Amino acid sequence: MLIDAHCHIDMLENPEAYLQKQERDGNITIGMTNLPSHFKMGYPYFRNLKRSRLALGYHPLMVAENPNELKLFKKYLPYTSYIGEIGLDFSREGIGSKMQQVDMLRKILENISGERKIVSVHSRRAEKELYGLLREYDIKNVIFHWYSGPLGLISEIESAGYYFSLNEAMTCSQNGCAIIEKISRSRVLTETDAPYNEKKNLSATLRQVDMSEEQVKENFYKLLEGIK
Ligand SMILES: [Zn+2]
Repeated sequence: MLIDAHCHIDMLENPEAYLQKQERDGNITIGMTNLPSHFKMGYPYFRNLKRSRLALGYHPLMVAENPNELKLFKKYLPYTSYIGEIGLDFSREGIGSKMQQVDMLRKILENISGERKIVSVHSRRAEKELYGLLREYDIKNVIFHWYSGPLGLISEIESAGYYFSLNEAMTCSQNGCAIIEKISRSRVLTETDAPYNEKKNLSATLRQVDMSEEQVKENFYKLLEGIK
């Protein structure tokens, strides 16, 4: 059983065929959405699936151009135990909307604080700020997706009980490898980040980090206990 903790199923060419195959193969897939309106569109396709789930998201890079979907976010919150993709992006691409991103993230965290949810976060160039906000709102069961931040923050993130989802691209870069080396094996999950990521083979990721399907499955089940 392979675990894909961060996949943009709704952005794939043929989401339905992809989902059917994942179900047939017995793999677990958490589908991210970039906006609450996307969750609304995608949700009916997930209703009868056993191993695939759709997460409710509000991507930091989508916030500035789509500022009016908080109402939809609140409406769909009870429909799913998974939140993502949310977070902050202070890279060159996102720095211009920093204030809007922080404002919206605060509102989102206010709404999910105290709820039993698993939360996949985007943290590019904003790892410390994001971590601080997650702690401020006492958010649990967080997965840092494709972490590329400071090495020194990793043990702090782990001390909060949070996880990391790793992909094949990370195992191919020097910075990615340095990060992976710092992460405890008990906090590792795998992801594809498809279709935004070219190097996304889950089995190759496992080989590169020298872990078995079983180990990652155990980590994921441990995380699931947090929402029971
Ligand atoms: Zn993503």
